[in-house]
Amino acid sequence: MYDLKIVNAQLVSGDGTAGTPGEIGVRQGRIAALDRTVPGNAQRTIDAGGHVLCPGFIDLHTHCLPAVNENYLQTGVTLVVGGNCGFSPEDIQATAAACAGGCGPNIAMLIGHNTVRVAVMGNVNRKPTAAELERMSELVRQALSAGAVGLSTGLTYVPGNYTETAEVVALARSAAEFGGYYASHMRDEGDGLMNSVRETAEIGRAAGLPAHVSHLKVRGRKNWGRSRELLQLMDEFAAGGLDVTHDQYPYTASCGRILLLFPAWGQEGGPDDMRARLADSAQRARLKNDLVEHIADVYDSDGERVVITGAPDASLNGKSLADLARAAGRRNVPADLAETVLEIVARFPGQTDVYCVLHGMCEEDVKIIMRHPRTAIGSDAWAPSAHETRPHPRMFGTFSRVLGHYARDLNLFPVEEAVRRMTGLPARRLGLTDRGVLREGAWADLAVFDPATVLDRATFDDPMHYPVGFDYVLVNGVLTIERGQPTGSLPGVFVGRTGN
Ligand SMILES: [Zn+2]
Repeated sequence: MYDLKIVNAQLVSGDGTAGTPGEIGVRQGRIAALDRTVPGNAQRTIDAGGHVLCPGFIDLHTHCLPAVNENYLQTGVTLVVGGNCGFSPEDIQATAAACAGGCGPNIAMLIGHNTVRVAVMGNVNRKPTAAELERMSELVRQALSAGAVGLSTGLTYVPGNYTETAEVVALARSAAEFGGYYASHMRDEGDGLMNSVRETAEIGRAAGLPAHVSHLKVRGRKNWGRSRELLQLMDEFAAGGLDVTHDQYPYTASCGRILLLFPAWGQEGGPDDMRARLADSAQRARLKNDLVEHIADVYDSDGERVVITGAPDASLNGKSLADLARAAGRRNVPADLAETVLEIVARFPGQTDVYCVLHGMCEEDVKIIMRHPRTAIGSDAWAPSAHETRPHPRMFGTFSRVLGHYARDLNLFPVEEAVRRMTGLPARRLGLTDRGVLREGAWADLAVFDPATVLDRATFDDPMHYPVGFDYVLVNGVLTIERGQPTGSLPGVFVGRTGN
């Protein structure tokens, strides 16, 4: 007797091979049988209507915490990796324990370098002492012991930006001792992109662990078209023996705090330091100058390319820098836009609360990167907070957009290959053998979707929509989504480095 049988399905295994008609029997959370036909009774039988039945998606790139995370369940994601870009919970053991309260998708965690550095040193622009570095290494070891899957950096953020390569190598060695991997939001995704890839590879090689580039992209108009050169460089490192992979979200805009527009020197310290900096006319002028250059350089001097997605004052959400400049009687030119940014930051010096969508990439690079065989699909998102009323559509649309828009409608690759980039490939990165695969004995993390209709509905102007086309989503053998509706079950668990 099975707990559940899914019949009349197109089985897509997650390794890229062609789908075949078949059935699956689920018992005690695992795939108990899988074949052309599976004889025997079940408590419940679901007819998949000939739709794709594949492993639930594994999202290597999220900022999720243990929670319902319904936006992930609604798009077939059954395992999220949190703690990316250098920011994570400090206490991984407590995070794992928090899953007992009920999680939608399963969750794994990276330990963040910025988090560890701030815990030991604060947000300061200097090298660590030997004792501080040892303390940071100890925190990384503790996190990996508690099940973290690796170390993440956000070298474009502070204090990552203040960090020399050798410091990251030292901490990555601590992660390597436990078999973890190194995931990096690199130092520079624009003019310094190639050197940033070299630094990431150097860290992987020197510390002896796999290197994974987060949200691979080419940023800034004058760099557009460099994706081929970028992938060629990464291929060279792979050919040289480095285990190197990357993830990507399927959009030409990124998303982050408004302070991403600021130079690194202008972000040191906390809110009081920021207030003091903005009150000092010489420092404010220098900041403005740097902002003008950045806006001209990366955003083509166009304030329409930067749009607020979530601010403490929700009336700002959906407004571009150009809108806000005009509302203050200014123009859509770099000097006026920089003034607008300074005013927003002065208004919310807590810094972390104002998020923007940043339109800085081109479609051709997105497609070229997506076609690369080592590109895993990752959302770089989280569950929206109450004040995020105009979030980046990747929060809702990432996986369905790749399946529907890019794979099916633009014919970039077959559906089986799209699924591989969402299952087998990320599972390999995590070292998991019993998730991200259709196999007897593997966990029954499963998604059923209609390949003919699956599609994202989230747009930049109107993002808060779940995709269409997902029929059923199971986490650890338990139905979490049934015909687009949540069942209310929260069967997700903490997935440690060695699986579970
Ligand atoms: Zn990032």
